[in-house]
Amino acid sequence: MSNKQPKIVIILGRSGCGKGTQAKLLIKDFGFNYLSSGDLLRERSNKIDFSGKKLKQVMNKGGLVSTPIMFRIWSEKIEKMKNKIDKKGLIIDGSPRSLPEAKLMNGVFEWYEWSDIKVILLDISEQDAFDRLTKRRICKKCGHLIPWVGYFKKIKECDKCGGELITRFDDKPEAIKARLNFYKKDVEPAIEYYKEQSILNVINGDNSIEEVYQDILKVFKK
Ligand SMILES: [Zn+2]
Repeated sequence: MSNKQPKIVIILGRSGCGKGTQAKLLIKDFGFNYLSSGDLLRERSNKIDFSGKKLKQVMNKGGLVSTPIMFRIWSEKIEKMKNKIDKKGLIIDGSPRSLPEAKLMNGVFEWYEWSDIKVILLDISEQDAFDRLTKRRICKKCGHLIPWVGYFKKIKECDKCGGELITRFDDKPEAIKARLNFYKKDVEPAIEYYKEQSILNVINGDNSIEEVYQDILKVFKK
């Protein structure tokens, strides 16, 4: 085992909690590698074979890719990234989706001899998550995305170009509710598991982007 352990950061939280925004800030400041399960599945679905085609079908319907398949794709990618991760650490977004996946992931970390695992939960309420996903806006002119959070709730026009803002619906309310129910049923047991291992750090996701980021940096100093 090398003396210097890379940081492995797992970011969890309900849809709309700001995981992606915080991950981008961390990558910019520290050069972390980034592994997004969503990106990985989209990438894999472009391969023309049975799993590629089936992934496209499942994802188009908004369904979940089963754990053995998801995990195989995920762990193959980890193997390919091993040297880079050793140098710069890793941010994991979108996994684990359940308690079994959290346990499998722990097994992988042990295999690669990574022991500096930080789990960060960006905590927002179910109602906030729903509002953020249904009320966020986009600039008609430049495409800049305005999140439904803090100061941004008040702005009337694009803070980049002054363009008109329109509400952006990525998903139907039913689809959002389904995602939030899935979180309660499947993701929360994984969070409990990390809590039992004392590697869970809960951060108030209601705060501003900058405050949340500062709280994450505090976790790194622990
Ligand atoms: Zn704009």
